[in-house]
Amino acid sequence: MYCRNCGNVMNDQAAICVACGVPVGKGNNYCPLCGDITDSMAQVCMKCGVNFNAYGQQKSKLAAGLFGIFLGMFGVHRFYLGYIGLGLAQLLLTLLSCFIFSPFIYIWGLIEGILILAGTINKDAKGFPLKD
Ligand SMILES: [Zn+2]
Ligand SMILES: [Zn+2]
Repeated sequence: MYCRNCGNVMNDQAAICVACGVPVGKGNNYCPLCGDITDSMAQVCMKCGVNFNAYGQQKSKLAAGLFGIFLGMFGVHRFYLGYIGLGLAQLLLTLLSCFIFSPFIYIWGLIEGILILAGTINKDAKGFPLKD
């Protein structure tokens, strides 16, 4: 990611920019995702479309993957990533079928969990990349 204040490339885990000393998320000169220069009043990047207010709240890939593998039949990984419709579909298919379909939904969630961990599913519902 890029420092919003000076545009320096930073480690994703960093809390403070080593180049300018400004905490992550402070500043309004550069896009954190693509490094493009941004208007100081802009809320979204004109180049890559990321919402600056939501950036930095990325979902954990590991958590999403594990939710899919262990709780996929309840759609927990989909809720976690913000795919409410798909999560509800999985949850309701499991509950409304009185768990008759749950083995299938379990496998569905399991496959999605593996795809998340493998990086095939790598964005949440808002299009933000998952963090490792
Ligand atoms: Zn900086
Ligand atoms: Zn951008």
